[in-house]
Amino acid sequence: MKVAVIGAGIVGLSTANWLQNYNQETVLYDMNEPGSQTSFGNAGTYAQYANIPTNSPSFMYLFPYLLFSRNSPLFIKLKYFPKLLPWLYQFLKNSKRSKVNDTSDKLTVLLKMMENGYQDLFRDAECTKYLTKESILYLWSNKYFFSNAKKDFAKRMETGSKITILDKNQVSEIEPNIKNIFCGGALFEGSYFANDPKKISESLLKLFIDRGGLFKKEEVLDIVSETNQITLKTTESTETFDKIVICAGIWSKNITAKIGENVPLEAERGYHLMYPELSNIIKRPISWQERGVYFTPMSNGLRTAGTVEFAGLSAIKSQNVINFLDKTTRSVFRDVKQPSESWLGFRPSVPDSVPVIGQSEKNPYIYYCFGHQHVGWTLGGISGKLIAQQMSANKVDIDLSPYSLKRFKN
Ligand SMILES: Cc1cc2nc3c(=O)[nH]c(=O)nc-3n(C[C@H](O)[C@H](O)[C@H](O)COP(=O)(O)OP(=O)(O)OC[C@H]3O[C@@H](n4cnc5c(N)ncnc54)[C@H](O)[C@@H]3O)c2cc1C
Repeated sequence: MKVAVIGAGIVGLSTANWLQNYNQETVLYDMNEPGSQTSFGNAGTYAQYANIPTNSPSFMYLFPYLLFSRNSPLFIKLKYFPKLLPWLYQFLKNSKRSKVNDTSDKLTVLLKMMENGYQDLFRDAECTKYLTKESILYLWSNKYFFSNAKKDFAKRMETGSKITILDKNQVSEIEPNIKNIFCGGALFEGSYFANDPKKISESLLKLFIDRGGLFKKEEVLDIVSETNQITLKTTESTETFDKIVICAGIWSKNITAKIGENVPLEAERGYHLMYPELSNIIKRPISWQERGVYFTPMSNGLRTAGTVEFAGLSAIKSQNVINFLDKTTRSVFRDVKQPSESWLGFRPSVPDSVPVIGQSEKNPYIYYCFGHQHVGWTLGGISGKLIAQQMSANKVDIDLSPYSLKRFKN
């Protein structure tokens, strides 16, 4: 069978490699360098424990604080607010306790299988040197938020994660170079992170090409449905496939629109700053939970990553967000020099925070694999494996119906 994968972020790269594992002749399309968009600048954590969505019953009453506090990681561009409202309304509807539990359960199923999605790919792509096995640390500076967060620990452990709770002194013992401003933390034992996400994407692309896959640096402009086949029209060529899969992150909605499929995808804009002088200042990724910020010791320096900004795709980087990240870095570390780089990426998010994985209802030869919001770096591998199983008519390891786009049509 001849198949096409649209988009070569971590989700598309994983999908393309898994399709090859299931013996499909695969062409991968991206108009940019593979792994150069959202998958480039993330915090690099394999967050197996991340089954607690940003939707939360407390979101409603925390919203004014999140919007107006100088220490909040949420930013909304005023002019964009009217455009955001329909998605925000759906997001709030999915913030009821029953919905949040449902999301959490659906994420747990995928997160439990995280290793299953990456193990073979990492081994075959020889990229384990870009992984650092140091347990990820969450920290809280406020006792109220810390004790609230502890209520979710049992749920987080359903993913197979092990959590050790640390007090203020234990935090200082394992990370002596951070300021002593935290009241406690949670260590996710046995977790690990990518010390160079770009190199992981490059390794996965190389594996795909070495095994006979074709990468075309072209933008897919149109999809034409024909009897039993799909034709892709790109900036450079026209080619026909038996099946295609859309893995284009936030841009997936532009492509599904070509077949009349309206997808509630919104960009949760996230930023990073790089501090080369702070290389090796910490051993592991640290997340300051109240600030929604990660500090990750990447191979080329400390990366401060995080925040959620709603401003659409075309707005330029916000200096306010950059200042917030820089200020947060200075609150935690001493002798901080100017960041060498700032970066903006677009988390592809649907209102219930559950990725869309499965066959299109509009056309049985088209498949979807997008909407991985805050955990795409973690779930790329397993999402790719599951969609490749479905496309190859293999036995699928889990029931994919809870991840279907259909849920937004009820
Ligand atoms: C600041 C920040 C920190 C994060 N930290 C983490 C973390 O620690 N752990 C975690 O699990 N997740 C994290 N994430 C989330 C994660 O990075 C994303 O969920 C993930 O990268 C999404 O991958 P993707 O492949 O779906 O999208 P992308 O990486 O954006 O890839 C989509 C690709 O599709 C291509 N494309 C688009 N349109 C077309 C077209 N018409 N034709 C051809 N190609 C097309 C694009 O060029 C792009 O390369 C973070 C995100 C941000 C912003």
